[in-house]
Amino acid sequence: MKAYDFLIVGSGLFGATFAHQATQKGWRCLVIDKRAHTGGNIFCRNEHGINIHVYGAHIFHTNDKRIWDFVNGFSEFNRYTNSPMANYHGKLFNLPFNMNTFYSMWGVTTPKEAQDKIKEQIADLNIDHPKNLEEQALKLVGRDIYEQLIKGYTEKQWGRKATELPAFIIKRLPVRFTYDNNYFSDKYQGIPQGGYNTITAGLLKGIEVKTNTDFFADREYFSSLAHRLIYTGPIDEYFNYTAGELEYRSLRFEHEHLQMENYQGNAVVNYTDANTAYTRIIEHKHFEFGTQPSTIVTKEYSSEWKPGMERFYPVNDERNNRRFDEYQQLAKKEAGVLFGGRLAEYKYYDMHQVIGSALAKSARILETYFSPGDIFS
Ligand code: FAD
Ligand code: UDP
Repeated sequence: MKAYDFLIVGSGLFGATFAHQATQKGWRCLVIDKRAHTGGNIFCRNEHGINIHVYGAHIFHTNDKRIWDFVNGFSEFNRYTNSPMANYHGKLFNLPFNMNTFYSMWGVTTPKEAQDKIKEQIADLNIDHPKNLEEQALKLVGRDIYEQLIKGYTEKQWGRKATELPAFIIKRLPVRFTYDNNYFSDKYQGIPQGGYNTITAGLLKGIEVKTNTDFFADREYFSSLAHRLIYTGPIDEYFNYTAGELEYRSLRFEHEHLQMENYQGNAVVNYTDANTAYTRIIEHKHFEFGTQPSTIVTKEYSSEWKPGMERFYPVNDERNNRRFDEYQQLAKKEAGVLFGGRLAEYKYYDMHQVIGSALAKSARILETYFSPGDIFS
């Protein structure tokens, strides 16, 4: 009899949700994380009374009432609605692309005028089936918005030409012919009151957790502790990079504490020109309507991932997707291991999607079996 039913590698949203569900059903779990803290990328650090989103700005949004109720079981959420601004050479535009953006860009005031303007701007391009991000963006919002609000930001963010990127990336953003600056179209949205750590603490309550513990420091020993393994780290690392390294974009954050109450008047301002080195400035207090006397701002710089750096965005181009397919084939043959979360699935996942995936996978495994058996076959 082993000490644990499940060893869970990674205490991010996937690992913590799985551990929570398994523990609720009476399974014995050990969670390990190589970082000094739990929560993965949703971790917040409180300084000067302000919650800093240490791994980039996180806004919770979902259309799924079940997931909304699930997270609300751990924390109340505030009414924060994400409405970033775009700064292009000092001129400000509302995001996502909506009638306010079209008005600022062209002076048009009706949806028909805006739609005609977009059509006129791409009339000679004949884009029926967009092959890449540039074509998709042009088709959605026309040339001016593409050139001022998309091209520079996207190429800084991804370090690649917009013509070399998949179209789906830009389809994450709504395009609206209404005066609505809500960045998401989801029904439920907000920030956990008191920051995301409350959610992590709730998920991991009563569960044994070891931080500063890297699975690969002694994978045989850690694997021997439990009947089954839930792995949420990078899938290429798990298989010793046998099919090659999966590429990522990494981020560098420059935090600054400023002796002023309000620096930019909004939580998120994107810098969409190609010359400004950073992609955006986050002013964290605005996520929670903070009234502290000082403020903390973070400039976000994007770079290619190199060993030793944090992996942030998967680069889902053809070459990487092909490599990932090879790893998936290997994963299917790996008995007793479940791979989940953004790093193991090499996926541009939002929080609600990661939780949804962990709930579905844990339900499939945990509700079918009553005791440790050959549950992954
Ligand atoms: P992670 O949070 O990365 O957790 C994986 C954990 O595994 C980490 O803690 C890591 O240390 C640990 N680990 C890895 N390898 C090992 C090992 N060998 N041994 C031990 N531990 C290991 N989503 C939204 O819904 N809204 C947003 O506004 C939003 N903003 C984002 C902004 C940025 C900049 C980024 C990059 C992502 C954003 N997301 C957002 C997505 C969100 O961060 C993820 O969906 C979610 O946090 C992923 O959870 P996870 O458990 O899959 O991965
Ligand atoms: N994007 C852009 N200009 C902006 C904001 C976003 O061109 O001001 C593009 C960019 O390519 C980005 C994509 O839209 O990668 C998706 O944006 P999102 O805000 O969803 O990115 P994330 O939250 O993942 O950083």
